Amino acid sequence: KFITLEGGEGAGKSTQARLLADALQAAGYEVVVTREPGGTPGAEAIRHLLLDPQGTAWSLRSEALLFAAARANHVETLIRPALERGAIVVCDRYIDSTRAYQGGEGRLPDAEIMAIHRLGTEGFMPHLTLLVEVDPATVTARLALRDAEGSDRIGGRDADFHAKVARRFAAIAATEPERVAVIDGNGSAQTVHVAVLAAVRARLGL
Ligand code: C5P
Repeated sequence: KFITLEGGEGAGKSTQARLLADALQAAGYEVVVTREPGGTPGAEAIRHLLLDPQGTAWSLRSEALLFAAARANHVETLIRPALERGAIVVCDRYIDSTRAYQGGEGRLPDAEIMAIHRLGTEGFMPHLTLLVEVDPATVTARLALRDAEGSDRIGGRDADFHAKVARRFAAIAATEPERVAVIDGNGSAQTVHVAVLAAVRARLGL
């Protein structure tokens, strides 16, 4: 099974991906944990192009294409082979991040983003997506901590941008409820983990 975690920055996706992978491993499954942009050497090289603060300021279109190229490589060389040998793949961000960050509200049309996704991956979609939602105030506090440690984020984005992203994620969850489970990410890591496990059990029977 292919499980993705989605949500804005500071939602706790990476922590939850790790906790979920540990729990599934303890239950006897082979689990591959990975992330986007990145996950393979080729895709990590593209991540560097996207996130380098001294690098190019990409347009939405070029960003969407770079994310799609990274994803194509990630799916071909890591995600599909892992699924084919029976592993569970847990991925921190996937196509819904492109739909939320580069699409929605005057940005790229969803149909165009999904067309690039078909070209890149033959439209490969997760069996389950966990959308981790967190209040803006919690995000601000978490990101202040993270930035103090030095983090890799695409800069030049304001609160309005992040509000749009959150709305777009929520809209995707509302239109694809059979694939997307919404998780309240405001609690402690352990509280959120319990909710994640409950969704994975209910939706996938794992
Ligand atoms: O998940 P992570 O915080 O590592 O993401 C790295 C950066 O890439 C963040 O700034 C995130 O907002 C950005 N990103 C993006 N569009 C995507 C996926 C990630 O702008 N489709």
